[in-house]
Formats: sequence, structure tokens, C-alpha cells
Amino acid sequence: MARIPESKIDEIRMAADIVEVIGGYLPLKKRGKNYQGLCPFHTEKTPSFSVSPDKQIFHCFGCGKGGNVFSFLMEHERLTFIETIKSLAERYGIILPKHDSEADSRIEKLMYANQIAAEYFQKSLSDKRYKERIETYLLTKRGLTQETIDKFQIGIAPDDWTGLIRYATSKNIKPLDLEQAGLAIKSDRTGEYFDRFRLRLMIPIFNITGKVIAFGGRALKQGERAKYMNSPETPIYNKSFVLYGMNFAKQAIRSEGSVILVEGYFDFLSLFQAGIENVAAVSGTSFTPQQAKLLARFATKANLFFDADSAGRSAALRSVENFFNAGIEPRIVTPPTGSDPDSFVREKGTEGIKELLVNSLGYLRYRFGSFDFSAMNMIEKESSAREIKSLAGKIDDPLRRQIFVSEAADLTGLAPEFFQSGKAKVETTNRPSEPTRDMNIIEMEFLSLFVTRPQLIETVWSDISPDDLHGPEHGAIYSLMMEVYRATGEINPDKMIETVKDDRQSSALAYISTLEWGEIDLSKVVREYRQTFLNRKRNKRLAQLQSDFAEAEKMGDREKALNLHQEIKFLIDKKLND
Ligand SMILES: [Zn+2]
Repeated sequence: MARIPESKIDEIRMAADIVEVIGGYLPLKKRGKNYQGLCPFHTEKTPSFSVSPDKQIFHCFGCGKGGNVFSFLMEHERLTFIETIKSLAERYGIILPKHDSEADSRIEKLMYANQIAAEYFQKSLSDKRYKERIETYLLTKRGLTQETIDKFQIGIAPDDWTGLIRYATSKNIKPLDLEQAGLAIKSDRTGEYFDRFRLRLMIPIFNITGKVIAFGGRALKQGERAKYMNSPETPIYNKSFVLYGMNFAKQAIRSEGSVILVEGYFDFLSLFQAGIENVAAVSGTSFTPQQAKLLARFATKANLFFDADSAGRSAALRSVENFFNAGIEPRIVTPPTGSDPDSFVREKGTEGIKELLVNSLGYLRYRFGSFDFSAMNMIEKESSAREIKSLAGKIDDPLRRQIFVSEAADLTGLAPEFFQSGKAKVETTNRPSEPTRDMNIIEMEFLSLFVTRPQLIETVWSDISPDDLHGPEHGAIYSLMMEVYRATGEINPDKMIETVKDDRQSSALAYISTLEWGEIDLSKVVREYRQTFLNRKRNKRLAQLQSDFAEAEKMGDREKALNLHQEIKFLIDKKLND
């Protein structure tokens, strides 16, 4: 992939006006300094989506999404950063340097080889040697329609050692390119190339933008060693990052907010064909953390619909942690014994699936519901309780965590506090003891001061450290602001959004940038905020000292108690004098 120099990205940022670009997707109305419209990322009737021409950012007060012109296009069009840059450069007539054109053209070659292979496999479906057999298999046995077969570009690799190589050569693709694309194999002995896939049903695997990057091949010959054979990993196919069908299903997954995860291609195809389109398939790997992250871009809930056998059960249990880590709530669908999603949907239809989904189980009920926790032995109890506790600690959403914890307490008979520790405890000790106004908002206002007038940050950075801000992402944003200011003398949120690590940070940053300060004395304001944070820090310290003091008294440690008492007195005096 071409490396685009920072200066070019700046040039594009200057050229691509955010109001103009977003205005091309939805109607925007001017309201004061900003523009408003209906948010394209969530359903709403009153506009809470705001675009700031001054700051070149957007933010939705309804769903919290926010960013700059690049993040808008990436999110809305599901483009990568490079794709976004390329499309804007084209639109605004900016010429990008051809830095790494060799690597670029190599990727393009591999993509092209896969595309041509898909074409060849599809054409071969009508080969009279296989036509009848394939029709029986796909249409009758698997119950696919011709429309589905066409849409998913299903084909067949004929029983031919060089069929693809000959076809590809006629399209100017060299055998070496086919080999690098995982479609041909070179013989060590003779140095000759031959087709990797022979006499297999070929299912193209697409990337998220819908380009063929690999194949899954199902054996058609009885007694073939490997029932499924997939393309090997190539520069364009990293199987742990890919979920089958995401390019077709992503819109439905996003609008449902949930995904049905299945294990195989045919599970996917049957569900999709039945009109259940928020589905994706793992196929060929065990579920990876990267796949969970991919899903987290579209969904907050996943229904794991695996085979009703022990392999399916353990696959479901293994994937749970990845879901928790990615912030997705996993639920487990339990089909009747002996069935799989493919056979189930063909038997019971969409109504049957919907009923199964309604009866899906949360992780705890699935894992512990069927047997009695109290009947476990001590070691099993201990390790299960620890496992649940660690999962609880991974749930960011406080309400969701609370529900999980009380369910865990019910199931195990252990006190909820046991599962609460870790994350929740940190939160309570960090919580300001003076909750007059929401400290979260105060922190955001504080950060927004530096967007409005960057040099103010110099007046506080010696007293207020990133650790003093407790709101989500606030410390990280503050520290990034300091870093950027030290390096450039500026704090430009539009530019910073590209360097922040994740969506939550860029959304928080975008929100912070929307806060407006009128014509008031900002240096006075910043002093007030500084004092608020210093007070909070001191109160926290005071609370700690007071509890240590009580403890020392109880233990009869007079000397320690006396020392603590002096320190407490000093802090209180100072507080009164401030
Ligand atoms: Zn929104």
C-alpha cells in the first residue's frame, strides 16, 4: 500500500471542506456557526448531528459519533484511511505521489488473479461433466437458489491440472502470480505449475469492500482427505482478520446492532437466503480477537449459532472471551440436538430462527445454567468464580456489568461484591467526593479550553497530570494535547483525530471540540478548573488519610496516628486558606 506523505494528507484536509463533503450525503441546515442535520449513523427524527466548518469536525449528540472529514467517509462508506485519501484526492484534483507503486501493483495483481479465478470457476459450473451433479448438490441437497449461487459467485474447480492456469494465461496472468495468490502450486521436482484446487466446489471469500481475496473449496470427490480446503494466507488474505460474508451483511448487522455468527459457508448462505441478513461465518479458523474487533465496528451483540454438538459447544465457549474483550455481548443460540443452522433454517424457516434467537442464553446461563454450581467441588467452584469475575471486569458498560454481576451472584450464591472488584472498585475510589456537577462534563469543558486557546495548556500542565482526569479517554486526550502542543505549538482537533487510537477517543475529542466559549476571560476560567481538580485530588488524599488514621487508632499505633493527624490538619488548613 502506498505511503502518502503527511504534507499531502494536510493538503487534502485543507481542500476537502467537511460541510461540502457531508452535505453531499445528507441535507444540512445552518444553525449559528454550525450546520445541523439528521444523523446518518443512528435513526432519529430531530437533528442532533452537527458539523462545524471552523473546526472541520462533525459530532452527533444522539449517538456520540464524531470525527473529521476522513473519519466520516471511513465510517459512512466503510473505507480504509488510504481509500478515503485516494477518493478525496481524486475528487479535489490532488495528485498523489506513486511512492510504493511496486507493492501497489503487486496487490492489484493478486486481486486480479482472484477475480479471474472466480470468473473461471463460475463459468465451469455449466461444464456438462459436472452440471447435473452440481445442480443436485447445490439446488436439491443444499437448497440454494440460482440467485444465491450467482450472488455469492459460487463455482467449481474442474478435475483438471492446468485449467485455471490456461484460462488465466489467456487473461495475461502469469502462473507465478497465481502461485502468489494461492491458486497454483509449483512442483519442486519439475518446476512446473499446476492448479491448487481440483474437483472442488469453490466459494469465493470477499474482503469487506467486496473484492475476492481467497476461496474455500469443498471436496466433491468421495473420500477426499480434506473436506474443506481454503486458500493459504497471501499478502491480500489474512484469515484471522476475515469473516465470511461481511461485505454482504455489514449494513444489516449495523442496522440490527447485532450479528448471528455461524461456523460454515452453507450456514451463512442458508440464513442469508432466508432473509436473515445480519449473519457472518467464521469458516476455517477458530474465532479470533481480530474478527471480534471487526464485528465490534458494526454490532454490540452477537448470537453464536453453532452446531448442536460438543465441538460446536466448545467453539462457542472458546470465543466468549474475545467477544467480552471487544465489548460485544455474546449470547448463545442452542439449536436442537443433531441440527445445525443450515438444516434448521431449511426445516423451520425464519420463524423458527427468530424463536431460537429469542430463547438464546447469556453466557452465564449457558455455561452454568444446566448444572448446579453448588454441586461443584471446591477447585471447580474457585476457578469458575475467578473466570466469571475476570469476564465481569471486561464489561465496560456499567449497567451491563451490573446485570452480569447480579446474575453471577444468583447463580453461584457468592456475594456480588466479589465479582464487582477490579474495575468497579477503581471507579468508586476515583469518584469525586464533591459531586455538585458532573465531573465528566467539567473535565470535557476543561479540555475544550485548549482547543479554543492552545497556549492555556502551559498554565496548567505542571499541576494537572493526565491521571488527574478520570473521565473515559480524558487523560489520554489531555496527554496527547500536551504532546501535540509541545511539538507544534498548536492543538488542532481535526488533525489529532487521526492519531488517536480508537473510536471512543476520537468521538470524545470531537465532542470536546464542539464546546463553545464565548467572549469571556479564559485565563480566569482555566484557573478555576485547575483549582477544582486540585481540590478533588486533595479531598481524595484527605479521605485516604482519614481512613488510615481511623485504622491506626484502632490498632493502638499512637505514633502513626499522631503523624497522620498532623498531615490531615495541614491539608485542612490549606483548604481553608485557598
Ligand atoms: Zn447519531
